[in-house]
Amino acid sequence: MPPPRMPDWKLPTLLASILCAGAALGWLAGNSAWVGLAIAAIIGVVFLLTRLRHLQRAMMAASVTARPLQDDRLMTRAHLLASNLRDLRQAADRLPDAVVLLDRRQQIRWFNHAAGSLLGLNRTRDRGQLLTQRMAHSELADWLRDGAKGQLDDVAAPGNKDNQLNVTLLPFGEHQQLLLAHDITPIKRLEQVRRDFVSNVSHELRTPLTVIHGYLELLDPEDVPELAPVLGEMRAQSKRMGQIVEDLLTLSRLETQHEVIDERVPMAALLATVRKEAAALSQGRHQISLESTANADLFGSPKDLHSALSNLVSNAVRYTPNGGSIAIRWRREPGGAVYSVSDTGFGIPASHLARLTERFYRVSSSRSRDSGGTGLGLSIVKHVLNLHQARLQIESEAGAGSTFSCHFGDARLLAPDAGE
Ligand code: ADP
Repeated sequence: MPPPRMPDWKLPTLLASILCAGAALGWLAGNSAWVGLAIAAIIGVVFLLTRLRHLQRAMMAASVTARPLQDDRLMTRAHLLASNLRDLRQAADRLPDAVVLLDRRQQIRWFNHAAGSLLGLNRTRDRGQLLTQRMAHSELADWLRDGAKGQLDDVAAPGNKDNQLNVTLLPFGEHQQLLLAHDITPIKRLEQVRRDFVSNVSHELRTPLTVIHGYLELLDPEDVPELAPVLGEMRAQSKRMGQIVEDLLTLSRLETQHEVIDERVPMAALLATVRKEAAALSQGRHQISLESTANADLFGSPKDLHSALSNLVSNAVRYTPNGGSIAIRWRREPGGAVYSVSDTGFGIPASHLARLTERFYRVSSSRSRDSGGTGLGLSIVKHVLNLHQARLQIESEAGAGSTFSCHFGDARLLAPDAGE
């Protein structure tokens, strides 16, 4: 039982009274107030010690009864934390994407189930190991060693070569990193299905269209004058459909191709051809100029490069009103050479520029159709340039004309007089 708690003023008053009483008694008993005071002080100390011991016992008793309560609370919190941690781990383990926690030295601290299968990691063997060592001789390890800048796209999964990954490295906490590998295999499969579908449909359409077009050519409008306008329209439309099918087949081929058969492409001849084609299409409606100062040939696919470069010229002619001018240029630039086509035509509003190379994307559908476009030209240009590690740059302003530039690196250039 703890001693009853005294009011705060009582103890000092009691001690003072004891001391006073001691002094008074000492003086009365033998005229020695100091002796009485000393005896009273000893009594006071004994009283205080006794009380202190009581308090100590009471506190110990209280702490013995309080500990289980505190321990209970701590235990509950620890259980809660452990169960939250377990839930988080289980959730992370269910993710279809690989997640790897790395410390500041890129040693593996933890990874989820998907990381095990996609990256080929093993819990007992690989924890604490350097990730770059575990992934040695893979594109992923090279990317990590080079500083893991940006996102690594379309890389084969080290744990299963049939899977394709997009990988990102995110910093977090104090110099820790989180490696995320998104499995893009299903998307890649779907893309392949789409490519196959477009290619198969185009192949299937090609033969019947050729037959229809052939018969339409055989029909002479003079034999059926009343049908002459209809025949003209049918011929134009079947020609357009034929062109769409050819462009789709070209795109399918370019998409499945990973590299080109490299040959010398003599630029002087190619530029002359491109200019001749532009003049034929323009029929004298535009001023067409050619400036060739690069003094270099290209190294790549002659057929595909011809298709890409003439596409840009054909666009310039089709989207420039009569009386406008078109400039074709082949010039050197630091690190390579640039082929560009500038026109003084309709131009393109800035909001359309980013989507221009998408299939069937048109700024104005009617203008494209009227000028015989398929909406696939720039898409073909982009694919051809990608295969030649070149880049397409588009500068344009509505009403102020456009410049389409193809930037080729030094590795794609050959001196015109050099042998193969
Ligand atoms: P299309 O066959 O319709 O010309 P492209 O892929 O070649 O298809 O071009 C896509 C769109 O980009 C065109 O429909 C047109 O709106 C725009 N475009 C392309 N080149 C030019 C240009 N030189 N001037 C203005 N617009 C252009």
